[in-house]
Amino acid sequence: MRGAILHAPGDVRFEERPDPVIIEPTDTIIRTVAASVCGSDLWPYRGINEVPKPRPIGHEYCGIVEEVGTDVTSITPGQFVVGGFLTSDNTCPHCRAGFQSACQNGGGYDGCQSEFIRVPLADGTLVATPEAPPEDLIPSLLSLSDVMATGWFAAVSAGVKPGMTVAVVGDGAVGLCGVLAAAELGADRVIVMSRHPDRQKLALEFGATEVVAERGDDGIGRIKDLTDGVGADAVLECVGTGEAILQALRSTRPGGLVGYVGVPHGVELPVHEMFFSNVGLRGGPAPVRRFLPDLMDRVWNRRIEPGRVFDLELPLDQVADAYRAMDQRTAIKVLLRP
Ligand SMILES: [Zn+2]
Repeated sequence: MRGAILHAPGDVRFEERPDPVIIEPTDTIIRTVAASVCGSDLWPYRGINEVPKPRPIGHEYCGIVEEVGTDVTSITPGQFVVGGFLTSDNTCPHCRAGFQSACQNGGGYDGCQSEFIRVPLADGTLVATPEAPPEDLIPSLLSLSDVMATGWFAAVSAGVKPGMTVAVVGDGAVGLCGVLAAAELGADRVIVMSRHPDRQKLALEFGATEVVAERGDDGIGRIKDLTDGVGADAVLECVGTGEAILQALRSTRPGGLVGYVGVPHGVELPVHEMFFSNVGLRGGPAPVRRFLPDLMDRVWNRRIEPGRVFDLELPLDQVADAYRAMDQRTAIKVLLRP
């Protein structure tokens, strides 16, 4: 089969790789129907994370089950499945508490931007659709493997409740999904912080009620102005930079929570300031498996269409172009098909 290999920063190649095979009896092999590039794939692509040697890459996928190991009970060949960006047994204490992202037996994948994928711990990782999905649902189902579940987790972590005023820092695919999540969870007002007209437009269609284009102190000032000087009840931090975290913390009202899901890079928390502002911070990698059944239901019943974050589709063998488009921000998010 063929799959994406990150050789060095800026150098992704679509190459021959060994066909994945069942190694553990809990494994499954799936044939990829769609995959995508994550914002976090861009960290090594941009050389901000080191690339000591060539490695397969990608962790967002959906596909058809080809083969299952002898211990797999809930997943059967022919099913259409989605899995989160980490594997989980869904039975250990952390999984039972809803934090499958911290599964005692879980881990990552051997590169999902490829034609076939070995999924370990299939029963505890994958969720199957009720039947073969209609073509137009594929982008939204794919988004559940990471961005939509991550945006949802940001909103849940920030404690979004009906009637709240929510601010979202970041207008990438996760931020946009965070807007959708906040609206779906009943927020009265959703203020998105965005400087890009096309992203503002999609945010408004996803349920944002206001747009703040300013950043830094000016952006915080605008959030305060829009909330009578109080600050937002809940803030979703979907970027991961020090500037974004500060913007989120300082836009939150006393007693409020920031849900943070952007992988932190160069962040130093102002603990003293956080202490006296009574603002809390909660989040981390999304336990996708916790939310998958519910989110799949919402997509299947056409309540939400998070797949709209994909604004470019390319053949999987042009995966290098997908990285370039996302790196240069000519695309919000790219959908890849074998
Ligand atoms: Zn577990």
